[in-house]
Amino acid sequence: MLSSFELLEPTTVQEAAGLLERYGDEARVYAGGAELILLMRYGLVDATYLVNVKTISGLGGLVAGEDALRVGSIVTHRALELDAAVRKGWPLLAAAESHVGNIRVRSQGTLGGNLCFADPHADPPTALLVYEASVTIEGSGGSSWLPLSEFLRGTYETALQPAELLVEIEVPRLPSGWTAAFARTERFYRPTANAAVAIDLRAGAIAGARLAVGCVGPTAMRLPQLESELAGLTPAEAGRRVMDARAYLSRQLDPVDDLLGSAEYKSYIAGVLLARAIGQAAGTEGANGHG
Ligand SMILES: Cc1cc2nc3c(=O)[nH]c(=O)nc-3n(C[C@H](O)[C@H](O)[C@H](O)COP(=O)(O)OP(=O)(O)OC[C@H]3O[C@@H](n4cnc5c(N)ncnc54)[C@H](O)[C@@H]3O)c2cc1C
Repeated sequence: MLSSFELLEPTTVQEAAGLLERYGDEARVYAGGAELILLMRYGLVDATYLVNVKTISGLGGLVAGEDALRVGSIVTHRALELDAAVRKGWPLLAAAESHVGNIRVRSQGTLGGNLCFADPHADPPTALLVYEASVTIEGSGGSSWLPLSEFLRGTYETALQPAELLVEIEVPRLPSGWTAAFARTERFYRPTANAAVAIDLRAGAIAGARLAVGCVGPTAMRLPQLESELAGLTPAEAGRRVMDARAYLSRQLDPVDDLLGSAEYKSYIAGVLLARAIGQAAGTEGANGHG
């Protein structure tokens, strides 16, 4: 049963930060509530005050710029999945967003809530790491910027300090000519594992690659060593190389057994999903909108 709480409705980030500071552990940031209300209903989180950030209009921006997409933290998964400019310029992100849960979760849940909750079984972070996204966080002491790879610290753990808010996510475009794909396997709506890949294919050989895997270990991760080993390979050779990299994946991704799969299965499936995504990226001409 959901215990009673007071809903606070700030209209600016500074006002929200002030409320979080004043009420400390008694207050929680409330965005879409897809996770928070569920946890409160199960008695896993207790809050006297919910600070509703959806009343802060400054957090709702979605701007596709020349170099980067700027996503306000309260933008929903559904908005990102459907937005024409996102689908054209950041198709890997739109693809990852289209996989999240179901239409109810995508309409309710926000990208900011997804990143702040830091559930290891998430889709957007895997795609965002391939774009080398960064985040802006803000508290009453001011704002700071950091790469998403540093924001995501571990299972349900981020770089956010008490009374700080995630304000914006900046998603650079992929370099011109790169193509990308997202692959996922799932159970009960949530991803068991996922992979995001972007490649620069020149005359049939890979000239550059970015690979990320999510849901296998505590947080989504890029795989820099494997990325560099793909240089000069055809997509088919690259697919075999990632499938053969099970020991590296197992070491790098720190896989854990959980309800969605054993560590051994997840290391194996990570290679399969990477190979599948490489094949798809190689076959999807213009997948990042630059042709
Ligand atoms: C049935 C189901 C299926 C799901 N399937 C998937 C899936 O397939 N893939 C996937 O990636 N996710 C999935 N999710 C997770 C869910 O979609 C995301 O976690 C959702 O985006 C959470 O966003 P929210 O706005 O609802 O966050 P909330 O529930 O409002 O908040 C989540 C946490 O983040 C904090 N928070 C929220 N916004 C901010 C902010 N701006 N600054 C600081 N802290 C903040 C809150 O205090 C809370 O601790 C699923 C969830 C459900 C219930």
